Amino acid sequence: MIKTKLKVLIISVILLFGFSAYAQNPYYLKKNPLKGEGTYAFLRRFHLDDNSCNLKKFLELNNLRKTDNLFFDKEYKLPILIYAYNGKSIRSTIGNNNYNLALQIQKYNELILSENLRKTHYTESEILWVPFGMFKCPNSISVVEKIGEKKKSIGTKTVKLFGNENKKVEIEDKLLENRVFYVVSGHGGPDPGARFLGKHHTLCEDEYAYDVALRLARNLIRHSAIVYIIIQDPNDGIRDEQYLKCDKDEKSIQGKSLPKDQVKRLKLRCDDINRNYRKHKKKGVKSQTTVIIHVDSRSYQKRQDVFFYYYFGSKQGKRIALAIHKKFAEKYRKVQKGRGYHGTVSARNLYVLKHTLPTAVFLELGNIRNTYDQKRIILPDNRQALANWIYLGLKDALLK
Ligand SMILES: [Zn+2]
Repeated sequence: MIKTKLKVLIISVILLFGFSAYAQNPYYLKKNPLKGEGTYAFLRRFHLDDNSCNLKKFLELNNLRKTDNLFFDKEYKLPILIYAYNGKSIRSTIGNNNYNLALQIQKYNELILSENLRKTHYTESEILWVPFGMFKCPNSISVVEKIGEKKKSIGTKTVKLFGNENKKVEIEDKLLENRVFYVVSGHGGPDPGARFLGKHHTLCEDEYAYDVALRLARNLIRHSAIVYIIIQDPNDGIRDEQYLKCDKDEKSIQGKSLPKDQVKRLKLRCDDINRNYRKHKKKGVKSQTTVIIHVDSRSYQKRQDVFFYYYFGSKQGKRIALAIHKKFAEKYRKVQKGRGYHGTVSARNLYVLKHTLPTAVFLELGNIRNTYDQKRIILPDNRQALANWIYLGLKDALLK
């Protein structure tokens, strides 16, 4: 009897250990590079660049050579080991008793979280990221030193609309101080804009335009701009998913439902912009800009690429549209060599361009019904890239 009990005990101990060993069997994190990102920039973004061990591992994991190009629509294994965090300690999770190493790994996870490269704290999601080099080639100390230095920040601002994971925005500088921006995502509420009915997912233009709009707003706020997000959906936030759910609960900046009638709907957003424009103008603000974001092509349903519009006769509108266009052309040349870039800038008599008091530009970032353009907009990193390029173009136009 006793023998049997002992046997059971031994077996259960083996099982227990067996299970925990199973839980601790790490795998490598997979990510897409950003458009135009090469191996070095990709690794740098994840702070894996100053340890040659990481580079070597990356090339080996993905069967690449140093000179090979990366494809933004392809996932690569990064030299980051993913462990199921056991809720107790990093040391027991990875089976290594080195206290300093555990501390470095903790700092790394917090740095990556603060940069939005991961969404949740490892204690919350129970997923621990362990850089391969830090763990397996401990002689390279530079990574740790880099993690020790805090990223420059002159303050933070909380923007609930960005969602729980993204609501804290670090202000980097005062580049756009005293400048006001009205960021408008096209459609919303009862109007989803252009739709694409895929096999498994329906893509709604308003959702993708909204995500880019929020990302642009965040970029502007990081540089101290005053930003009005004219169409709002408090339960969406910045979304790092490929397929954004179509909903109809977008509201105006004052929380009003968006009217079904198109002209009323457009008038509401113009009123919201103009009311605030007058308020800031009274206070002496000289720089106010409206950016309207769409993901369709009204006039050329099948055409791809990016179209930039300004209102007839608006010199400043044209200047801004040209600057953003120039930035896109420059980025596309780097990112998609050989494909050619066909974006255009032209004047148009669109309702919102005509009826808003601040200088306005209207951007069609692609055609959501076009399967080629969809790639540009479905991947969250690409939406971030688009928002970054718009920001850079605005900066060029306004700060010159
Ligand atoms: Zn549209």
